[in-house]
Amino acid sequence: MNGSGISHPAFITLDRRRFLAAAAALVAAGVLPARALALAGPHSFKQGALDITVVSDGHLVLPTNILAPDAPPDALKQLLDAAGITGTEIKPDTNVTLVRSGADTILFDTGSGANFQPTAGKLVANLALAGVKPDSITKVVFTHAHPDHIWGTLGADGNLTFPNAAYHAAAAEWDFWMDKDLVTKVPEGMQPFVTGAQKNLTAVKDRVTMFKPGDEVHAGIKVLDTPGHTPGHVSFEVPGDETLIIVGDAVVAAPVAFPHPEWRFGFDTIPDLAIQTRKSLLDRAATDKIKMLGFHWPYPGVGHAEKKGTGYAYVAAT
Ligand SMILES: [Zn+2]
Repeated sequence: MNGSGISHPAFITLDRRRFLAAAAALVAAGVLPARALALAGPHSFKQGALDITVVSDGHLVLPTNILAPDAPPDALKQLLDAAGITGTEIKPDTNVTLVRSGADTILFDTGSGANFQPTAGKLVANLALAGVKPDSITKVVFTHAHPDHIWGTLGADGNLTFPNAAYHAAAAEWDFWMDKDLVTKVPEGMQPFVTGAQKNLTAVKDRVTMFKPGDEVHAGIKVLDTPGHTPGHVSFEVPGDETLIIVGDAVVAAPVAFPHPEWRFGFDTIPDLAIQTRKSLLDRAATDKIKMLGFHWPYPGVGHAEKKGTGYAYVAAT
């Protein structure tokens, strides 16, 4: 979404997907040893004492016009052209963060599951490529309760996908979605989001721990208040030589939101608050040279913000 020609991330993603599929087939056929797949597996890096792996849940298909509905059309077109985004659809990646720390294997969000979009819901399959079985997940931590982040909590069979996990959610986000009258307060098109959130959150209500901004969800991993995309949206700060922020959806579409954090994004619940959050997060990240992991940025979605003009440029980590 932010390149052109042969370096366009869409091509890299496609090549990588093809490569992994081919490698998986060769391993299954006994041509390659299983460790060959691990070598080709998901993007991993060390963050302080933690091992982080970005696991793809596939990608979404969304209308291009949600990116910045109020933006000046010429300026928007220029950015989209530069990013190689043409046509009426965008296909944002979905980057789930997996943290391994001692006995804990922690997932940040559960992806889309089987009931949102056919191109998403690939988390369990891609966890397998990373050598992680669903029953080995000890903790699930939610950034927010949109379909592509929590509908994977329940499997197609109606059982918990990660049966041994403890669940952690922001109290403000939980309270917003679990309001029994919410479904009557939102536009009809949003109603499935509400019923889906309630279904998946209810499934973990007996094993959920609520947190608030400033709390830690795991040793050293601090909850950041990043509301606006949803009312109780949170991000997570992970210490290391270079601080990492697991951004979630506080900054969604990299090619547009970095240069113009002040543009409204079509899927933000409280757009003006989301803008304020985006601006302060990107300002802090650029000033303090913080590494970020964005859920919808081109896989693996790890990169930095650099000040550029009146906004920022997204620079993917190498
Ligand atoms: Zn999302």
